[in-house]
Amino acid sequence: MGSALSQSIFKLHEQHHSLEDYQGGVPRWCSGCGDNAILAAVQRLCRDENLAPERTVFVSGIGCSSRFPHYMKTYGFHGIHGRAFPIAEGVKMARPDLSVFVNTGDGDCCSIGSAHWIHAIRYNMNLTVILHDNEVYGLTKKQASPTSPLGLKSNTTPRGSVLAPLNPLTVTLGVQNASFVAQAVDWIPEVLYDVIRRAYQHRGFSFVRVVQRCPEWLPKLFEPWLQDPGKTLMLTHPKGLTLSADASRIYPNQREHDPADIHQAREIASCTDPIPVGILYHDPSVPCYEDLRGAGAPRTPEGIRAGLEREFDKFTIWPEGDPSRPAA
Ligand code: SF4
Repeated sequence: MGSALSQSIFKLHEQHHSLEDYQGGVPRWCSGCGDNAILAAVQRLCRDENLAPERTVFVSGIGCSSRFPHYMKTYGFHGIHGRAFPIAEGVKMARPDLSVFVNTGDGDCCSIGSAHWIHAIRYNMNLTVILHDNEVYGLTKKQASPTSPLGLKSNTTPRGSVLAPLNPLTVTLGVQNASFVAQAVDWIPEVLYDVIRRAYQHRGFSFVRVVQRCPEWLPKLFEPWLQDPGKTLMLTHPKGLTLSADASRIYPNQREHDPADIHQAREIASCTDPIPVGILYHDPSVPCYEDLRGAGAPRTPEGIRAGLEREFDKFTIWPEGDPSRPAA
């Protein structure tokens, strides 16, 4: 009896996690870096959703933000530059039961990884994607990224960048099968958490662009938005975000936006000042690729070998009338 009781207590303890259960290595990001706020929001989400650490995976590419998996006490894969999406998709295809997150930066996602990004949107796999967009290459010490503002002086654009920045929201909303698109800023932690949580709860490819401060290389870039709350446009809707009384008082510039309306979402996404914050688009009806392909079916070594043989046989040149030729 005693042992049954202690086993139930043990099970209860096993099923409830605290913040510490998700805290991995001590972050090495610079003091004041917006990545710290994203990490805090994600660890809180894991606790509130009670995600089992052994069934949760963080996948990243290369860059400051891509150190993220090291700071989570879950499974993680610190991948190669621009390749976080195919790695995460591979994990999801093999183990659709896992919660899979992707942490990527503006260089990693919007430059070298852009082809993978576009197709990942179209595949609509159940991944929670956080784009840490600081508008500069931080890890390699200040080169212009695809989202850098026009005129930015950097090591690769010493006279100022001459190209208008790529807008990750309008790009995502322009791809077939986009199903969840949202935006947050690192300096409003309450809303950042709400947006990431809604993204996690969506079944499909949830894309959250977080406007992220890099105090090391662009310390003044978002100062006007920090100083003037009117420069943040809060998107509210019963099917999107609802603001707390405090947030509503501090950020009076609000617009009711139905996340089902893609045309309005595209119009809002193209606005950069004020910065729109909230759920821009949500369509839960788009099917996930892993469902269409029946992902996660058990694979035995014999089955894998037979599959390979079948593929190789396609290239065999069989003599006319050979009886051992497999049926087409
Ligand atoms: Fe953060 Fe910038 Fe430092 Fe990288 S260089 S850790 S983005 S503040």
